[in-house]
Amino acid sequence: MEIQITRAGSGQLKPKPADESRLGFGDIFSDHMFLMDFESEKGWFNARIEPYGNISIDPAAMGIHYGQEIFEGLKAYRAMDRGIHLFRAKENFKRFNRSAVRLCMPDVDIESAMEGMKKLILLDKDWIPKSEGTSLYIRPTMLANEPHLGVRPSRSYVFFIIIGPVGAYYKEGLNPVKIYVEDKYIRAALGGTGEAKAAGNYATSLLAAEEAKEKGFTQVLWLDAAERKYIEEVGTMNMFFFIGDEVITAPLTGSILPGVTRDSVLQIVKQWGMKVSERSLSIDEVIEASKNGNLKEAFGTGTAAVISPVGQITYNGEDHIVAGGKMGELSQKLYDEIVAIQYGTKPDPYGWVERID
Ligand SMILES: *Cc1c(COP(=O)(O)O)cnc(C)c1O
Repeated sequence: MEIQITRAGSGQLKPKPADESRLGFGDIFSDHMFLMDFESEKGWFNARIEPYGNISIDPAAMGIHYGQEIFEGLKAYRAMDRGIHLFRAKENFKRFNRSAVRLCMPDVDIESAMEGMKKLILLDKDWIPKSEGTSLYIRPTMLANEPHLGVRPSRSYVFFIIIGPVGAYYKEGLNPVKIYVEDKYIRAALGGTGEAKAAGNYATSLLAAEEAKEKGFTQVLWLDAAERKYIEEVGTMNMFFFIGDEVITAPLTGSILPGVTRDSVLQIVKQWGMKVSERSLSIDEVIEASKNGNLKEAFGTGTAAVISPVGQITYNGEDHIVAGGKMGELSQKLYDEIVAIQYGTKPDPYGWVERID
C-alpha cells in the first residue's frame, strides 16, 4: 500500500506536554494522523498521513445520522531499553473487522492498516511519553460518510487513526473502585451489538453511568438484559471474580466486548495453574460469596487501566466490601505481570509484544 505523507510544517508543530506526571487521558493528540477513504466501487484508497486537524464531513453523512461508527483502543509503550512496543495490536484490528461486519461496514486490510499505524507512530515517536506507566494511546476509527438520509448501509467511509500521549492511569497507585450493580438500565442484549466496539453502545451507557456517579460510584456493573441476573461487564472493562479457588469471567456469548486484556488475563492465570472458568455467574452467587467470605477479589480488565481492582460492590442498597477495600494479591500480580511484558522489563513468553523501533 502506498502511503502519501504530508508533514506538518514547523509552524504547525504543537508543543509537547511539559510535565508527563500530569498527563490525563484522551485530550492531547500528536502532530499527524493517518487516513484512508472507501467507496464501494473502488475499495480503500488514498492512504495518507497528514497534519492532525479537522476533517470535513457532509452534514448529511450517514454515520452522523444512523450511527455507523466503530473504533478501537490500543497503546504503544516506550520500553525500558527505549524501544517502542506494541501489545497484541493485531488482535485489535481483527476485532475492528468483526465490529465492521456487525455494523455493515467494510473491513480493512489488517496489514495495511497496521502499516499506516506504525508509520504514524514512528513519524510522531517523540510524542510517546517516557515516564513510568505512561503510553501513547492509539484510536483507529471508521465513520460512514456518504451524504444520504435513507436508512441503509453507507457506500463510502473514512478510516482514520489518531494518537496521543496518556498518563499512568492511576496517579496514586491502583485505587480500588466502587461499583454500582445496575438493575434498571441495560448495556446490550443477546443478538444486539454488545460485542462490537460501536459508538452507539457508549452513547446508550452514559445515563446509567451519570446516575451512578451522582450516587458516588465510579462505574456501573452491567447485568444481562433478559433476567438482570448474570454478570456482564463494567464500563469499558471486562470483569473477573476470584471466588474460593476459582477465577471467573463471563463467557463471550455476544453481549460483552471480547477484551484483549481479558484474553491475556485468562492465558496468564491458566499458565499459573489456577482454576479458571468462563461461565455465567449470577450477582446472587457473588453476593453470597461475599457474605460467607469466599469472594477474595474482583477486578476489571481493559487497555486503559490494565487491571482495575474493585473495592466495593453495591447491590439492592447493600454495600459489599471486597478484599478489604484494597488491591488484592492476584490483581496486583496480574497487573505487574502484564505491565512488565508491555514495557519489556520481563521476558514475553507469549509473543505478545512487537518492537517497532
Ligand atoms: C474496549 C472495551 C473493553 C476492554 O477491551 P480491551 O481490549 O481489553 O481494552 C471491555 N469492555 C468494553 C465495553 C470495551 O469497550
